[in-house]
This record gives sequence, C-alpha cells and structure tokens, in this order.
Amino acid sequence: MLSAKVLATMHCKGWQQEGIYRLLENVLAPDVAENPYELIVYGRGKAVRDFDALAAIKQSLENLEDDETLLVQSGKPVGVFRTHQDAPRVVMSTAMLVPNWANWSHFRELEQKNLTLFGQSTASSWAYIGAQGILQATFETLWEIANTHFAGTLKGKLVLSSGLGGMGSAQPLAVEMNGGVAIIVEVDRDKVMKRLETNFIHFATDSAMDALRLANEAVAQGIARTIGLVGNAVEVYEFVLSQGIVPDVVTDQTAAHDLLNGYVPAGLEAGEIRAMRVEHPNEYIKSAKNSIVSHVGAMLLFRRAGSVVFEYGNHLRGQAEPELPEAMTIPSFVTLFARDRLTAGTESLRFIALSGNPEDIYAIDDWLLKAFPDDTRLVTWIRYAEHRVHFQGLPARSVWLTYDERQLFIDALVRVVEAGGLKGPVAITRDHFAGATMASPHRETEQMLDGSDAVADWPILNALLMASTGASLVSVQQGGGVGIGYSIHAGTTVILDGSPGNGNKVRRVLLNESQLGVLRYANAGYPKAKQTAATFHPGNKQANEQADRTADRQVDRKADRQDNEQADKQVDGQAAARTPRRAADE
Ligand code: NAD
Repeated sequence: MLSAKVLATMHCKGWQQEGIYRLLENVLAPDVAENPYELIVYGRGKAVRDFDALAAIKQSLENLEDDETLLVQSGKPVGVFRTHQDAPRVVMSTAMLVPNWANWSHFRELEQKNLTLFGQSTASSWAYIGAQGILQATFETLWEIANTHFAGTLKGKLVLSSGLGGMGSAQPLAVEMNGGVAIIVEVDRDKVMKRLETNFIHFATDSAMDALRLANEAVAQGIARTIGLVGNAVEVYEFVLSQGIVPDVVTDQTAAHDLLNGYVPAGLEAGEIRAMRVEHPNEYIKSAKNSIVSHVGAMLLFRRAGSVVFEYGNHLRGQAEPELPEAMTIPSFVTLFARDRLTAGTESLRFIALSGNPEDIYAIDDWLLKAFPDDTRLVTWIRYAEHRVHFQGLPARSVWLTYDERQLFIDALVRVVEAGGLKGPVAITRDHFAGATMASPHRETEQMLDGSDAVADWPILNALLMASTGASLVSVQQGGGVGIGYSIHAGTTVILDGSPGNGNKVRRVLLNESQLGVLRYANAGYPKAKQTAATFHPGNKQANEQADRTADRQVDRKADRQDNEQADKQVDGQAAARTPRRAADE
C-alpha cells in the first residue's frame, strides 16, 4: 500500500510515467547535479537540451497516457505516439551522428545551434544517482587490483591518481574502503576543499612534499589515509618520479576525454584557464594534448619502475597518440580487472526508491545481505555503503551481482513490491558499463577476443530488445565518457510498481538484458560466457554454435597472425607498420 504522502505528490497518470518524471527531477536536484543551473548532471553531461525542453518534457509526461510513448531527440521532446501498455513510456536518442561527422568539431557546431547535446551516459538517460554509482564501480576495480596484485587488500599500499571531479572523487573513498593510502592530485583548489568538507578525503594540502610525508606515514603504519593535493597531475607525477618514489598503483581520472573543457594543461594559472578556453580554444587544445603526452610519459616511467599502471576509462592514452605510440600499451581497467567478471554475467544494477524513503533501500540491503552472505565483496560494499554513502536525491543502491544472484534477487524484489512490502515503487536501472550495452573500443570493448571492438550493433540490439521487451525508458546514445566518435551505448530503466502484469514485465526485461550481455561475450568466444549462455532459451543454441565457430576461427587467425609476424620480421628488419589510430579531435 502506498503512503498518502507518496500518492499525494503524483504528477502523472500512472507509475511508469511518474517514475520517469521523478528520475528526471532527481538527476537535476541540487544535491545530485554538478551544475543544475546549466542542466549539467555530471562531467559535461546534460539531462535535457535547455529549460524550455525540460518544461515541455515534464508537461508531456504529466499528460502521457498508459498506452503512449514520448520520443526525446537529444534532450528535446519531439512527439507522442500511440503504442500500447507494455511499450516503453519514453524512448530517446542522444548525440547520435552519422559516423563520418562524428567528431568534436562538428558536434560543437551542432551544439552551438542547439541541435544536439552531450549526455555522457547516465546524465541524459536520467539514471544518475550521484557519486555512489561510480564509487561502487571504483570499489570493485580496486578490490580486483588488491586481489590480483596484493593478496586481497591495499593495506600498506600507495595509490597515486588525479581528478576529484564528479566521478574522480570516488577514488579516495574506494581506496579507503580497500584499506589503502591515496594521493589524488586536483588542479582546482575549490574541488579539493569541497571534498575535504564532505569527508571524501582525510587531508588537503598544496605541498607535494607534505602529501608524500602523510602518505609514507600511513603506508608504514598500515592505516587507510586519503590526501587531496592541489596541483597539476603532470607536474606532481614528474615530481614524485624525481624523488625516486614508486607508488604501488598509478592511474588518472581527469576528464581527459574532453581536451577543451575537461583537462588542464601544465603551467596554466587558475585565472588563465577560462580565458584561454574561450579566446584561444585551438591553442588550448594543443597545449592540453602536449601535457597529456608528458602525463602518460610519466605513467609509463612509473610502470617501468614497478607500479601497477592502468587507464581508468577517460581516454587519456588515446589523447597521447600519435605523438606517444607507446601510450596504448598501458592497459585499460576493463581488460585488466572487469572483463572476466562481465563475461560470466556479473553486472551492475541500481535500485532507486521512488517513494523517496531510505527505508526501502535499507530493506533491499537487508535482503541482499541475508540472501548472499558468502559474497564477501557484496557484503563489504553494502556494509560500507550504509555507513559512508550519503544518499543524494532519491535514495538508491548500486550493486554488482552475479548472473544467478541477479535472477534470484529480481524475483524476490518483485514479490516484495507486489505484496506492498516497500513504501513505493522502485526504478531499476544500471550503469552503461557492460557487454551488450556499450561499444567503446578504448574502454568497454577494448581488445575483444574476436576483434569486434568497434562493432556497434550490440548496443543497438540491446535498445531494440529492451524496447520490445517492455522496459519503461530506453535510450541510445553516443560519446559517453570517452567522447564523440568513440562510443555508442544504450540505457535501460524499468519501473517496478507492483501493478498487475508489471512483475512479469520487470522479470522479462532484466532477464533478457543479462542474457544479451552474456551472448555478446559468447559470440566473441569467451569460454565463461559460452558456458552460461548454454543454459538460455533453446533458440540461442544456434548463436552458441556460431560462437563456437567464431572461437575456432579466432584460434586459426592467431596462428595466421604468428605466421605473418614471422614474415614481417623478415622484411628488411623493419618494424611491422602499425596502422595509426585515428587521432582524437580532442
Ligand atoms: P569532471 O570534469 O567532473 O572532473 C575532472 C577533474 O579533473 C576536474 O576537477 C578538473 O579540475 C581535474 N583536472 C583536469 N585536468 C587536470 C590536471 N591536469 N591535473 C589535475 N587535475 C586536473 O570529470 P569526472 O566526472 O570526474 O570524470 C573524469 C573522467 O573519468 C572522465 O573522462 C570520465 O569520462 C571518466 N570516467 C570513467 C569511468 C570509468 O570508465 N570507470 C567512469 C566515469 C567517468
């Protein structure tokens, strides 16, 4: 039974529309959005095109019937169509450009004419839940690093990284959760102070020497400690190298995917940055690119000295090309620490309590803790999150669940909501980070086993399947966290409202979504995915057999490659020519 308060604040004619309405308001709430006055949710990602579009979308949702669908084109409502009750209430396409024109310079022209918007991932699909989403993902990555390299903990280990922005600020918390010590370099003093005030870091300093002293002390004592250092990443990394200090882990989360608005070149004073960006954008971009070459150069030196070095999904390596061809030898966190779990069907899932009542999320936490007590990673995360994560906007929880856990959990949650066990409906959504939802050759789909990195059919298939299956909101998007021209992805949200038939629809949507993710990897020849996929719908048998043939061909191709390499070596001793990657527009 819904509380009177929840019902009294209904804006729309049904919960499917109302849930989406609340999610849109949520991503722009002052305690969620980085800059609600410019409609920026996080990074550079906007929720909608402009304030007129925002008002029009809300009005459309208020009037939308249970058998109608609203179409949103890059953050602007463009039409309402008669569909049917199980169809999505909202479908959207954001920042999609014809491939030959998918570059930043063309995109900016369109943006200036107000014809498109940059929506990052969860900003324009209205699924952002504040810092928690990235915190949970960063926790998972660091847990995996601790397991792979340091006997299961970061205790006594130093992590050096940079960027304390919307996503980057998760880094110190995630290091602390894994028991380690972090120095995070951030060029913007206000951001460092904000992170100190909100308990994201333990210490703030302007002095690299001070930061190193505080870090060494904590490493020696084996205590968790996090330090925000005001400075430029390039200058600090080079300084640390000059001191002969080798951190255990080195990475970066500056917004390097956007050279003009996201990255600050070394040597610029705070006051000069804004002026140069506006008055001399090309010069700024050139200078940022040069700085990134030095930045990545320093990371390569750390790797040579023994640090675990990886790129954290911000396109830093790509920006250092072609000047620094060695840049791409730094692996991405996906291939190092996430791919294996994704191929087995382990993925993120987020629950957002549309009632606004935190008790709904704590009830979900309790169920997960009781149901999966042996999943130490999950238990550690939930316990920590309950103590350390402040809900931003609507209460939410982000978790990574295995394929089996997911199905058990969804089934239980459907039954709880149907029985009126929560204070209101729940929106279930996810990060865009997964096999069939993302085509991103420098991140999620880098180095796929069969070489299908740039094949973008999968996110499109994902969106088509989700719309056919009846998700509440389905989106296709371009750009994400790596920038225009570098990724195509899909978003899905389903509202669990307990109405007749809704439970089955939610089960169907989330089952199909997990299965398509696994099938994407099975088709690429990953053994764990093939094993899991063998249990799916019999119609997938054909797909599995196809996957086997792909894997066989893969083995053949490997043999061919070895033969070719041998032949290449014989050509006048010249190094085999590498096809240069397309230099980023920025
Ligand atoms: P943001 O724009 O909010 O913050 C970036 C921060 O970096 C800013 O505070 C800026 O002042 C700082 N910065 C820029 N250049 C610097 C320099 N040279 N030295 C020190 N600090 C510098 O961006 P965000 O939301 O925090 O995201 C950061 C990056 O991470 C983006 O590229 C994003 O796409 C990427 N990202 C990756 C993943 C993933 O795959 N794990 C997830 C989310 C975000």
